[in-house]
Amino acid sequence: MADSTESESRKLLGRLREAMASDDAGQARLDKITHLIADSMGTEVCSVYLFRDDETLELCATQGLNIESVHQTRMRIGEGLVGRVARFGKVVNTPDAPNAKGFRYMPETGEERYSSFLGVPIQRLGEMLGVLVVQSKEAREFSSDAVYALEVVAMVIAEMTELGAFVGEGAALSPLHQQAVLIHGTSAQEGAAEGNVWLHEPRVIVTNPIADDPQRELERLNGAVEELRVGVDKMLEVSRNGDKEQLQVLEAYRMFANSKGWMRRMEEDIARGLSAEAAVEKEQSQARARMSQVQDAYLRERLSDLDDLSNRLLRILTGQGADTGAELPENPILIARNIGPGDLLEYGRSLRGIVLEEGSVGSHAAIVARALAIPLVVNAKRVTTEALNGDHIMVDGDQGVVHLRPDETVVGAFRDKIAMHTQAQERYASIRNKSAVTTDGQRINMMMNAGLMADLPSLDGSGAEGVGLFRTELQFLVRNQMPKRSELVALYKRVLDAAHGKPVVFRTLDIGSDKVLPYMKPTDEPNPALGWRAIRVGLDKPGVMRMQLQALLRAAEGRPLSVMFPFVAQFEEYRAAKAEVEKTIERERILGHVLPSDLEVGAMLETPSLAYAPQKFFDEVAFISIGGNDLKQFFFAADRENERVRRRYDTLNVSFLSFIERIVERCAISGTPLSFCGEDAGRPVEAVCLAAMGIRTLSMRPASIGPVKSLLLRVDLGELRKIISDARHRGDQAVRPAVMEYLRGL
Ligand code: PEP
Ligand code: MG
Repeated sequence: MADSTESESRKLLGRLREAMASDDAGQARLDKITHLIADSMGTEVCSVYLFRDDETLELCATQGLNIESVHQTRMRIGEGLVGRVARFGKVVNTPDAPNAKGFRYMPETGEERYSSFLGVPIQRLGEMLGVLVVQSKEAREFSSDAVYALEVVAMVIAEMTELGAFVGEGAALSPLHQQAVLIHGTSAQEGAAEGNVWLHEPRVIVTNPIADDPQRELERLNGAVEELRVGVDKMLEVSRNGDKEQLQVLEAYRMFANSKGWMRRMEEDIARGLSAEAAVEKEQSQARARMSQVQDAYLRERLSDLDDLSNRLLRILTGQGADTGAELPENPILIARNIGPGDLLEYGRSLRGIVLEEGSVGSHAAIVARALAIPLVVNAKRVTTEALNGDHIMVDGDQGVVHLRPDETVVGAFRDKIAMHTQAQERYASIRNKSAVTTDGQRINMMMNAGLMADLPSLDGSGAEGVGLFRTELQFLVRNQMPKRSELVALYKRVLDAAHGKPVVFRTLDIGSDKVLPYMKPTDEPNPALGWRAIRVGLDKPGVMRMQLQALLRAAEGRPLSVMFPFVAQFEEYRAAKAEVEKTIERERILGHVLPSDLEVGAMLETPSLAYAPQKFFDEVAFISIGGNDLKQFFFAADRENERVRRRYDTLNVSFLSFIERIVERCAISGTPLSFCGEDAGRPVEAVCLAAMGIRTLSMRPASIGPVKSLLLRVDLGELRKIISDARHRGDQAVRPAVMEYLRGL
């Protein structure tokens, strides 16, 4: 690149910075900038179009087009050449605009006089903010240097927009991150919460996009890249013998960190007048824009590695980041793209609400949120882009709606809703000590799911009759090393003490799939939900299972104990697991430990295969608990973590209910106690239908006991069963409409 071009663009950026530092109001600033650019680029026209809403671009400033058309001319994304730049995030460079594909004539602008057109996207970290255009009468194709220079300028404009430099009248000029935003997501845990945003990974804000000492910026960049390389090498060293996948990611990081192309592009940007962080961010922005275009999963992964690496570099350069030492705000509402169950548990009950941009209702993070009774909204598009740390936010977990920086009316309405929730909770408290008996005299056992010590106080508070599912893996997930046997003994003892004689069903370690222990070597599996998980791991590598069984036996110490194994797919697995229990008991006996007064070993039915196990299995097993979350995903072949497919299949689908009925019948033959402990047990409509199919024990998160019991007290299971049968005979796909009609009439 010629030095003269570099100094030209540096001059332009210098002038831009002056414009930015001036006291002018937003519009005047923007006008000045278009003038500067047209002047420097030697074009008659320079215009800035900004998004007014998701779909509409508005001409916000121009040098050269009719001034009356400013804030009047609008186009939809994809419309005309400007709309095309915005839609595809790509440069349009043509010497003959009126004859270019997609050209749309805007008579009010007077643009028919101009032949050549160069439009570049104004984008920040993959977020499209608008389009910057230069036009001239002379029919010329702009040189690649000119395109490049305009892109650099567009990047600076994007930064300035982010910083609110163009704030003024009109929606398109109103400050970003200050407007009220309503986001529709998916409800994953009900409840309403008000609080302040806490970003799991805060975005880095670049406050100095333009720099006047390229040499210094280069040194800063090189210093930061060096620090980054050393850091990556260190990470590589540590994980050399560990997880293959993590190693691959780190290798990719190292490759990028040493990539000449990446460095060269950033150095060029600095030479043109950008600061080191702006140069990094420009690269990152382009990687993100590419990421949204590529379909290939591998390539997307690599681009996302690059994105991550740029983030690290930005954090080094700006000193901002996840570990800035900032403190959680009051009433924190966690915002993240996605989060694993382990990370979420670390935050624990300090959070008031959680909003995930991706995430899924069936994920274990969602289960943790439910266990902690924290309102959760998933699938909240753009929330990580829109929200800033400390923003006021209201989360409506019932509707799956998020109000970011809400206005007065929303705040008022929302607070009323919170008050209503409190009232409902008081109503449920009044039936806390009542048994769940339906109007036709059927008694349903109301149990709760737990996994943390902190869950236990809910046993009395919710009116649960015991713990139907104690997810022991949560204790393993919150630590960064394998818990010791003595620690487990102490913990399980405390659980049994807190239960005051009410039954507790301990489920042995259910790891694998998305529950990855940070200190265990993960396996590289194409399909982890169908992979080496739960009892499969326990039987193949019995060390941890034996240790856990020992801890459970010792904790019971003369009291009754219930243990169940997750994910049993065939009789033989149950037998093998049971044999492990017996061997462990024998060993404990020899060691002189006091044994439980009574021991029941059950199985979770989470794969359809087990429903068709030999009758002998039903005779031998002490009890069965249906893990509806997994069972449903395998029954419908619909990933519980994939929102797109998960919601296609209603739990009240006749096929699924008939299947449940079949399991009830098989258990009835042998008199095997049966319960249901998936999330559906805690949804009132689903729960009463499960009861109508013959399930007599439901285990759910504590907060659901009130609402489920309240409905059970009002239904006639015989009648409900008939409604379900009729719907089935009519050939309905799901019984929900018929059931809802019945429930509304109560
Ligand atoms: C289930 O699958 O329904 C279940 C209770 O287990 P988890 O959700 O922990 O997989
Ligand atoms: Mg399960």
